[in-house]
Amino acid sequence: MAGADAKRELAGLIEAKAREFTRVSDDIWGYAETRFSLPKSADALISVLESEGFRAERGAAGMEDAFVAVCGQGGPVIGLLAEYDALSNLSQVSDSTKMEPLERGGNGHGCGHNALGTASLAAAVGLKDFLAKEGLGRGATIKFFGCPAEESGSGKAFMARGGVFDGTDVMLTWHPWTETKIWGTSSLANYQVFFHFKGTSAHAAASPELGRSALDAAELMSVGVNYLREHIVQDARIHYAYTNAGGESPNVVQPNASVLYFIRAPKSSQVRPIFERVVDIAKGAALMTGTMVEVEWDSACSEYIVNDTLARVMYENMKELGDLKYTAQEMDYAREYVGTLPAGAAGNVAALIKKCFPGIGQDKADAMASEPVQGELFPYAMSDEAMKGSTDVGDASWIAPTAQALVSCFPTGTASHSWQWVACGKSSIAHKGLIYAGKAMAMTALDVIDDPSIAEKAKQEHLERLGGETYNCAIPKDVTPR
Ligand SMILES: [Zn+2]
Repeated sequence: MAGADAKRELAGLIEAKAREFTRVSDDIWGYAETRFSLPKSADALISVLESEGFRAERGAAGMEDAFVAVCGQGGPVIGLLAEYDALSNLSQVSDSTKMEPLERGGNGHGCGHNALGTASLAAAVGLKDFLAKEGLGRGATIKFFGCPAEESGSGKAFMARGGVFDGTDVMLTWHPWTETKIWGTSSLANYQVFFHFKGTSAHAAASPELGRSALDAAELMSVGVNYLREHIVQDARIHYAYTNAGGESPNVVQPNASVLYFIRAPKSSQVRPIFERVVDIAKGAALMTGTMVEVEWDSACSEYIVNDTLARVMYENMKELGDLKYTAQEMDYAREYVGTLPAGAAGNVAALIKKCFPGIGQDKADAMASEPVQGELFPYAMSDEAMKGSTDVGDASWIAPTAQALVSCFPTGTASHSWQWVACGKSSIAHKGLIYAGKAMAMTALDVIDDPSIAEKAKQEHLERLGGETYNCAIPKDVTPR
């Protein structure tokens, strides 16, 4: 492990450019671009990387706003994952304590990805500055991966499929959160697929015998899938939304209907057979109704492969950084947002804290839950249980050992993808979290550069966890980003 003096120097180099990093984060917050179309956000990151001497190449895996920026040579290849996509329909006035769109129907950074990508930028630039100054003999290659469409587009799955992450020794990333801890669980693999039914329109009263209802087919598909639920692995999840119910006139036999399905399970290999049965059900529904069905892939992502070796190194660095400290003004700011939450939110937070801190008493958990923002570093925990959500970081984690931190950036009890997160996305609380995350990733990278045994051990563990399986992207080869 690199020494404490070196770490302090590295952290100081990041601190010295903190204003530049928080400006980039705020700019990306303002662009609020979504899915695969993120030209301004990618430009904001690339322009800083290039001015810092990185060689950036756009168009990774055929996606215009995906990029790889490289610096250094030899030594271990350190991958830093960056996201910068926002969510649709989540426009919100910054720092407002009521739900108030900045632009009706506009987009908003409700998952903090403006800060996410920028902290990876801070880590990359800080490391580069440190290596330039101290000139470590072993060398190191820093690879900054600009990844579009984490929110329901699985940009990283397309990048993994395209071999963009190949050759990386370790992968580091983080996510803005309401607590500070190691992401120590797997995530659910997820297939996202549209089913488009096509029938024949007719007047529903005058000539129903001539009609073939696509809406009936979609409904029968739901019935079939509901019967399937009893016969799939316990932790699987199937959810759906009608993206086209045909129309608003009951007196028309609906000729078109579309349903988007998310099919999730702890392992991608478990999702595949469930997906195949869902396709059979859709075909059955089409057969029953005399309609046609077309299956259209949206995206898919794999389960996240944890790495205890790398996560512990990252955790030690987070311990070295200590707890996040907030001013009275910041506490008051956060308290305003806690005040917007429904009754019972604090109880949920206390229950989570009790789960995270073994042996903690109810009083202490209640006291922590009543803090408007959580600055304390939570205990290290690693579990084989999958958290009930999905992320395309999963696909990257199949290629190289990956560690991921969660860092407090938002008021206690507020939820990801909420207007509160958009409103607080440019606050000094979010800025503090961003800089902390940048330091934690850079310090972890420095340890990996300094001590070759870390990457070796992490790789060994990675192979054991994969159990002989190799990465197999769930998205069919002919499917391109939508
Ligand atoms: Zn997110």
